[in-house]
Amino acid sequence: MSYPYAYDAPVSQTLFDRAAAVTPGGVNSPVRAFRAVGGTPRFMVSGTGPYLKDADGREYVDLVCSWGPMILGHAHPEVIAAVQEAVARGTSFGTPGEGEVELAEEIVARVAPVEQVRLVSSGTEATMSAIRLARGFTGRAKVIKFAGCYHGHVDALLAAAGSGVATFGLPDTPGVTGAQAGDTIVLPYNDLEAVRAAFAAHPGEIACVITEASPGNMGVVPPLEGFNQGLADLCRDNGALYVSDEVMTGFRVSKAGWYGIDGVRPDLMTFGKVMGGGFPAAAFGGRADVMAHLAPAGPVYQAGTLSGNPVATAAGLAQLRLLDDAVYERVDSVAAEVSGLVSAALAKEGVAHSLQTAGNMFSVFFTEEKVTDYDEARKQEAFRFTAFFHSMLAQGVYLPPSAFESWFVSSAHDSAAVERIAAALPAAARAAAEATA
Ligand code: PLP
Repeated sequence: MSYPYAYDAPVSQTLFDRAAAVTPGGVNSPVRAFRAVGGTPRFMVSGTGPYLKDADGREYVDLVCSWGPMILGHAHPEVIAAVQEAVARGTSFGTPGEGEVELAEEIVARVAPVEQVRLVSSGTEATMSAIRLARGFTGRAKVIKFAGCYHGHVDALLAAAGSGVATFGLPDTPGVTGAQAGDTIVLPYNDLEAVRAAFAAHPGEIACVITEASPGNMGVVPPLEGFNQGLADLCRDNGALYVSDEVMTGFRVSKAGWYGIDGVRPDLMTFGKVMGGGFPAAAFGGRADVMAHLAPAGPVYQAGTLSGNPVATAAGLAQLRLLDDAVYERVDSVAAEVSGLVSAALAKEGVAHSLQTAGNMFSVFFTEEKVTDYDEARKQEAFRFTAFFHSMLAQGVYLPPSAFESWFVSSAHDSAAVERIAAALPAAARAAAEATA
């Protein structure tokens, strides 16, 4: 297969070849390998504000933002200064430290349903631990999740997941046993009736419902009006916990994440990405009576050598403290502007598409119909995205290398960056229009 808009990236290609010799598929997280779009993954060497620079010396306007965390843009001077100051004091102590207390206080202050929080190092750990806690608290085994929602690579949650799993079309993965996934009930997203029926079919057995607060891992597919509230109500009525995964939306779409937009109160929440400022920091938290079941306060075990790492917490804290109303207004307005430009360019070329937004997260489905669940998402003409992606890349705009991912902007995306995107769109829209399956 050839990519008409791909161009040579010899240094990246050499690095990719070296990587492939020592790392499976040449990458440390599957979607980075460009398998969904083909071509050479760009190896990045630096980032500044809205721009990334690759190993061949080319600059890109970044619409991935490290899959969400870089909401202030790359190398924000105040975040970098906080990291430098922290790192000079030592990188890990294996003891409690003041930074962890401050980060926990910042999260609790921002997100009302979070009365207590535990810091971990990745979103995967956060959701895995929240599920364990929900099971330990309720004494029940079963978990409801939704097709197309990705909660990290937790064994029990790798059934009909989105993100890289959506990209590769794996309904399941080898290595996850029937026993590990057997207590997971996978339901269609946005279908409250299905949830009601599952509770009726398994009385007293369901520990929790876990959902992305607003899914971004099958592309952006926001909850229909009343869906999250319906989940919360069904959980309460059936003695189960409502677990809202805000790893992607948390502190990104508002000061209090998606909770700040829909106000539906979860029992437990998970966070990552933005709260780490580009470092491995994540968290789960919620009702104090539930969190009290966590060791050492309670019997449900959970731990981590690098949990609350002083450098990661300093980065996260510095970033969160900079995220005031003005920053969210800026990110919201850039997102509206860029997504509007993309949609207009596609419309001009007569390309059927559905622009979907959730606060300042957005993505484009190459289909006429509004997408409300994973089955509909998979019906899009992803080959048009491939052509669009490569045209944008060749013109210096870095999009997520998959049609099933959210796009992200930052407060550093200024008018110069937006103009570069705007200039690239006509040719990319034409490429999408002319693409064939
Ligand atoms: N939950 C959601 C909603 C995510 O988007 C992700 C990652 O993309 C995760 C959990 C897993 O986080 P991590 O990749 O840090 O393990």
